[in-house]
Amino acid sequence: MNRRDFLHSAAALPLAAAPRRRPNVIVILADDMGHGDVGFTGVKDISTPNIDRIAHGGVRFTSGYVSHPFCSPTRAGLMTGRYQQRFGHENNPRYDPSDHVAGLPAGEVTLPQVLGEAGYATGIVGKWHLGAAPEMHPLRRGFREQFGFIGGGHDYFKAGEADEKREYFIPFERNGRPAAESEYLTDALSREAAAFVRRHAQDPFFLYLAYNAPHTPQQVSDRYLDRFAGVEPKMRRLYNAMVSAVDDGVGKLLDTVAELKLDQDTLVIFLSDNGGPVGINGSSNAPLRGAKGGLYEGGIRVPFAARWSGRLAAGKTYSEPVISLDIFPTAAALAGAKTPAGVKLDGVDLMPHLTGAVKRPPHERLFWRTGGGVQYAVREGRYKLFRNAEGAELYDLEADIGETRDLAAERKDVFERLDRARQAWDRELIPPRFQSPQPAGGKKKK
Ligand code: CA
Repeated sequence: MNRRDFLHSAAALPLAAAPRRRPNVIVILADDMGHGDVGFTGVKDISTPNIDRIAHGGVRFTSGYVSHPFCSPTRAGLMTGRYQQRFGHENNPRYDPSDHVAGLPAGEVTLPQVLGEAGYATGIVGKWHLGAAPEMHPLRRGFREQFGFIGGGHDYFKAGEADEKREYFIPFERNGRPAAESEYLTDALSREAAAFVRRHAQDPFFLYLAYNAPHTPQQVSDRYLDRFAGVEPKMRRLYNAMVSAVDDGVGKLLDTVAELKLDQDTLVIFLSDNGGPVGINGSSNAPLRGAKGGLYEGGIRVPFAARWSGRLAAGKTYSEPVISLDIFPTAAALAGAKTPAGVKLDGVDLMPHLTGAVKRPPHERLFWRTGGGVQYAVREGRYKLFRNAEGAELYDLEADIGETRDLAAERKDVFERLDRARQAWDRELIPPRFQSPQPAGGKKKK
């Protein structure tokens, strides 16, 4: 048995009794959480027992990627199962309800749309960030229930009032209407996620819990901050406390699933939407190079795990590269949902790979592009091509996870193969349809 076969056979075995019904799907997305910042990726100064319950109770993806190194494009890929550059969604939309371009194009079919058509209850709790125009609202894009906010982030304590037109202070919404909220935002999102599960205990459901934590602003209630009294610097202390709040919320959600006896009926997936912006929020992408915004591993390889009790064996690792785009086809297949006709999905149904029914890796290659061509990356097996305006580099990630030794000259054959594949993929894409907003008046959102 070679190493790859061993890893596959180890990944996911005992098939217990068939589930009683089509499984629920819960996707928990953290925001700007670094690769190295949960227990199952080796963090030392934060305790994340609940996020770890997902990894230890299921499969941990050691090469788990997102399709972009920042917020909105990753979400566009997650919602469609497609490289978001295929439809020009390569930047963050500015918050402007009168902008009908900056956001997820109406023609793209979303995961909640196909699951809803298959009879699933669908709910989003938290951050949307796929456009602020009325027709781009999550309730118009497949979700039937909503709690949260539609911009790219939010103040954790304040909403509405004098600042109601500013992105981070817009009123919270429940099903499209302004909603008063008095709890710390992360706690409120956790509460609403648990309530959604409780409301739909009898239905198959899809819950998309998109925390904005631990994205800035670095705001956290004392209840969490007190846990990290001695941690320095302050940026890291605040960050740890925000991650701890997310972890408590994940615990509350998992407890609710367990209490309702839905563990064996529920696939739970946890990931971050991009790598940590290290100097901005105190996150760590250890042991990876780079950070949010770039295509070194620290920008795109994230904490990523999936649990389905009784269907995925507990405590396994899966080391073949997987990507956030895989969530769409995986969930659609489990739901028996029809995927959009004539549309190329780039994601792959992971279940046959995780159960060992299919031995080959899910992807021959994975691709990334930012800014219409500012940076590119290609992952093929152990190799990774990185390209920017200065040139291109090749790394062997199995030998050199920190991307320290450029093999471009030494392995010209691999380098050229990956670069040709990159060019072929690039020709399938369109230019960005909108640009990211510039920070207004030099006043950075904190
Ligand atoms: Ca983010």
